[in-house]
Amino acid sequence: MSSSDGSEQSRARFAPSPSGPLHFGSLLAAVGSFADARAAGGIWLVRIEDLDRTRELPGAADDILRTLDQFGLHWDETVLYQSQRTEAYAAALTALRAQGLTFPCACSRRQIAACGNPGPEGPVYPGTCRDGIPQGRQARSERLRIDDTQIEIEDRIQGPITQDLAAEVGDFVLRRADGLHAYQLAVVVDDAAQRINSIVRGADLLFSTPRQVYLHRLLGLAHPCYAHLPLVIDHTGRKLSKSLAAAPVDPSNPLPALRRAWRLLGQSPMPEAPGSVAEFWQWAAMHWYIERVPRGRIAL
Ligand code: GLU
Repeated sequence: MSSSDGSEQSRARFAPSPSGPLHFGSLLAAVGSFADARAAGGIWLVRIEDLDRTRELPGAADDILRTLDQFGLHWDETVLYQSQRTEAYAAALTALRAQGLTFPCACSRRQIAACGNPGPEGPVYPGTCRDGIPQGRQARSERLRIDDTQIEIEDRIQGPITQDLAAEVGDFVLRRADGLHAYQLAVVVDDAAQRINSIVRGADLLFSTPRQVYLHRLLGLAHPCYAHLPLVIDHTGRKLSKSLAAAPVDPSNPLPALRRAWRLLGQSPMPEAPGSVAEFWQWAAMHWYIERVPRGRIAL
């Protein structure tokens, strides 16, 4: 679909994992992504990333959707659930395997860590199984072969990002030892299926982005453009995330949290207090400037 000026219509998404209720850090990502989409007259979608059902809190997906709705974050098309997408992930993995780009791996996390090859976000795979599984060992996972791959991205907020995939990540997992497809593969397959061309999300995913760009490339897909919002830290300097059990937002009183998120994203405050969530969004869609979003961390 094209917008009235002939350019491609922006399609963005918010992709929460239903491991708990929506907390302020996730709301901030949803607000940034929604404002950016609406300011561009674009489409905004929601995808529930419930690939790993063992990490799901029963009822959390519905709770998140209800909360988004109460915050006026209305999505435009049917919600996609990753738990229903296994066949699409399997097909992508088969396509990569057919190109000779994957290999079975027998290593456990502990064995990889013991090889002493630390990377910026965890150990870099030492290549143990890339030329075949050592005798007497069993395949556990399947990895993507990475050979000297330098990835460059222009992030709309963070600026130019360069990652040497081989040196900083290494051959990474596409199918995990528990049989589930890896987040990196699922997110790429789903972004392509939902025709997402603009991603605005938290900077905790910045390090994953070059892997996703590379997978898009290998699957013959154009990758979306990216904007990574600053991470929210709490008053002790720790990242605000679900795992730290940050307080859920209060859907019965959305306006204070919306205005707070808006301010933390560096946007100019509304001249008058909005009377309703709808009024807030009507104004916000006309006053969003991504260039005002701060790059670094933001403290609550
Ligand atoms: N499901 C991921 C999360 O909640 C987000 C994935 C993404 O935006 O690409 O952290």
